[in-house]
This record gives sequence, structure tokens and C-alpha cells, in this order.
Amino acid sequence: MKPAEIHREVVILGSGPAGLTAAIYAARADMNPLVIEGPQPGGQLTITTEVENYPGFAKGIQGPELMDEMRGQAARFGTEFHTGWISHVDLQHRPFTIHDVGEKDETQVKVIIKAETLIIASGASAKWLGIPGEAPAPYGLGGLGVSACATCDGFFFKGKEIIVIGGGDTALEEATFLTRYASKVYLVHRRDKLRASQIMQQKAQANDKIEFIWNTGVEEILGTQESGVTGVRLKNLQTGEMRDFPCEGVFVAIGHKPNTDLFKGQLEMDEVGYLCTANRTMATNIPGVFACGDVQDSVYRQAVTAAGTGCMAAIDAERFLDSLPVEMPDHTEVTQEGEIVTPDHKLIIEPSGEVVSNIAVGSSRK
Ligand SMILES: Cc1cc2nc3c(=O)[nH]c(=O)nc-3n(C[C@H](O)[C@H](O)[C@H](O)COP(=O)(O)OP(=O)(O)OC[C@H]3O[C@@H](n4cnc5c(N)ncnc54)[C@H](O)[C@@H]3O)c2cc1C
Repeated sequence: MKPAEIHREVVILGSGPAGLTAAIYAARADMNPLVIEGPQPGGQLTITTEVENYPGFAKGIQGPELMDEMRGQAARFGTEFHTGWISHVDLQHRPFTIHDVGEKDETQVKVIIKAETLIIASGASAKWLGIPGEAPAPYGLGGLGVSACATCDGFFFKGKEIIVIGGGDTALEEATFLTRYASKVYLVHRRDKLRASQIMQQKAQANDKIEFIWNTGVEEILGTQESGVTGVRLKNLQTGEMRDFPCEGVFVAIGHKPNTDLFKGQLEMDEVGYLCTANRTMATNIPGVFACGDVQDSVYRQAVTAAGTGCMAAIDAERFLDSLPVEMPDHTEVTQEGEIVTPDHKLIIEPSGEVVSNIAVGSSRK
């Protein structure tokens, strides 16, 4: 069967805080955005419980409820939603072509979406170990003492003994941060050496609240839905000895993976796969393609920063569609007509290649 075709001025890939904030701004600017919700409608916050650091909610709010509110706000101004799984994009020509295959691992294209501008908000996923007890509740103890985000959840572990799993910079940063709340942090690592930078190692080793458990893997997270986490089953990887270790929290800190595989070879990324943006704008290296939220942020990875960059991406898309110049990662400014303003603002390069002065005749501007 021939795939259905949809054509929109603004398509937003992802429905987490970044995508939905971009949708609120784009919809209010009458750009009739289409949000592709993807495999996790509402994004990462739908798998957590209490969110206490998103401004505007003095008493905190449940993650899924916050995302329902954001979705409702975007819908109120005319955002359309589309459920699907994007397997392939062609960003070489505008309108961009986006292939929706319906679900992960499907191959047959069901819908072809054409976009004059594309806002990528496909997020990043924490890496997990895949051990029993790790899945989100009610399948495991995720949200009941198991977390992958110290900034988000550290506050809930005041005065408690917890473990952090990992041996890189992420793990040491999380462990050090968590000593603000926890009475003791045990860092469990599979080897007898850390991969983290020297400075992070020194900081963690000088912190008397952190104790290292070397050459050890975590086989299972223990506890119940009623009690939350009560401990972990550890395996000494040198002797094979197993033991149950009591603790009230487990932070898995083995890194994140941005959801960017489908942009490989088309968009500029860092070595981990985070999309590169211009910083002052959310422009990627392809004019008309913008990125916001965790997919382009290896540092902050918070709902509020995702929402903030979602707002920026929508305003950038609006400027672009109005043929106003948008700053690119190389500091040139590009319009949708293909005019390029040089970083020093002195020259405009026309799509034909002709170079003209950007300084009006008789202007005193240098
Ligand atoms: C357990 C947990 C608790 C957290 N707690 C907090 C907290 O308390 N406070 C806080 O500020 N932050 C918290 N965070 C971090 C926060 O959730 C993220 O920073 C935020 O969700 C990032 O938003 P985003 O919109 O960039 O991406 P995401 O929320 O990751 O959304 C990505 C979207 O892209 C879609 N998508 C991905 N790939 C495809 C594809 N191929 N096709 C179609 N769609 C696709 C997904 O379906 C999803 O809708 C927590 C994270 C986790 C995992």
C-alpha cells in the first residue's frame, strides 16, 4: 500500500518537555506544528514519580501529570499529534522527508512526513544494566529507590545509605553530588581502576562519605513495591562470591545515549552522538533543522533546560520561516532563501554564489 503523505511547515520529532514546549511556542505563532510522539509519548518524565524541581509547582508534581499538562497546553493552541516511529530522515533537500514505520523494528514505511522545518527533540536515554529490579515500577523498583539522575532524585535520599554503579566521570560526579544528601555513598565498580578523569578521582577519594567497592558487579536490586529498595546482590568478579548488601537507593551511572542514530551522516554530532547546535540558537549544521533538549545537551539534561531550548528552537524555526537569518554552528547566519551572512556581518553570499556587501552604501557601519 502506498504510504500516506503529510506536509507541514514545522514538524517536531519527540514529545518530551523539549518537543512539547517547542509545540506550544510554534502553535501560538500560528505555525500549525505536528508533533511526532514516538515510542514514549511524554518522554522520560513519564517513567518517574515526583518532580520537585520544575518551576511553577510549589508542592511538586508527578512526572506523567506534568507531561499531560504540557500536552494539553500544546493541543489548546492547535498542535497536531502523530504517533509513530521514525526510522529514516532525508535532510539533504527541503522539504525534509521523514519516514514513519509505525513501530520500532518495522521496515515498511506507513507515512511520509514532509517538513519545511524540523525540530529534533528525540531526547537521550540513560544506559541501564538490564538486571532484575531495575525496570520502572511496577515491573521493578525504578522510581522506588532506583534512579539514573542524581540531580533529579538525590533530594529523596537524605540521611540514607546508597550505592552508585559505574567507574567513569558520570559515576564519580553523581557520587560526589549525592554526598550532599546521603549519609554514605558506596561506589560499586567492575574493575580495580576508574576510567574517570584524575581530578574527579581525587575529589571522590578525598570525600570520606564515599567508599569504593572494587571488582564487583551488581546482579540484582532487592526490595518490594511496598518497601522500595532494601539492598543489592553483589558478585565479586575475582572470586565469584555473592553477597547481599543493604542500601536504600541505587544510582545507575554508566552513561547516556542520545537518540540520534537516524541522523548519522547527515547532522554534526560529538563523539558520543549528541547533536551539535550553535548554542546561541538551536540551529544544526543543516539550515531549517533545529535540535533541542537532551538530544543536544550532554551537560544539564533537565526538564527545565529541555523546555527552555524547546522554546528557543521554535523561535528559531519561526525566524527561519520568516526568512530572517538564523545563526548556525559556524557563526554564519543563514536564511531559508539560502543567503549566508558571514560571521563578521560584512558580506552576504547569495545562493548563486555571488558575494555582495552587507554594508549599505553611505553607511558608517564598519
Ligand atoms: C527516571 C527519570 C527521572 C527524572 N527526573 C527528573 C526530575 O525530577 N527533574 C528534571 O528536571 N528532570 C528529570 N529527568 C530528566 C528529564 O526527564 C529529561 O531531561 C527530559 O525528559 C528531556 O526532555 P526531552 O524532551 O529532551 O527528551 P525526552 O523526554 O527523552 O523525550 C524524547 C521524545 O522523543 C521521542 N523519540 C525518540 N526517538 C524517536 C524516534 N525514532 N521516532 C519518534 N519519536 C522518537 C520519544 O518518544 C519521546 O517522546 C528524569 C529522567 C529520568 C529518566
